[in-house]
Amino acid sequence: MEGLDVSRNGVCHARRTNGQPCRKAAIRGGTVCYTHGGASRQVREKAAMYLISQAYPAARKMAELINHRNGMIALAASKDILDRTGHKAIERIEQDGRMIVEIEFVDRGRVVEHDA
Ligand SMILES: [Zn+2]
Repeated sequence: MEGLDVSRNGVCHARRTNGQPCRKAAIRGGTVCYTHGGASRQVREKAAMYLISQAYPAARKMAELINHRNGMIALAASKDILDRTGHKAIERIEQDGRMIVEIEFVDRGRVVEHDA
């Protein structure tokens, strides 16, 4: 299987009792909503297997986008791949300006003077 299955557009494919399409959101990777079978173990497992099967084609598509003629798309694809391969940019650290100062008291009265 190559590319995303167009029948899995994120909308439930079941029909209501009145014959109208359900139109609820399908479970991730599935073709039906929670109400129309998406809660059952076998449907959830099949949806999960579908998502796993799409990981490699998705990665290949992302790699192709590095060479996209639209620079913004190419940049976004490049950043995403770098992020996913552990090459994240340094993240900003928020600071509110406060700092902790440790003061150590030294008892100078106990300093022993040596005879010269
Ligand atoms: Zn439904």
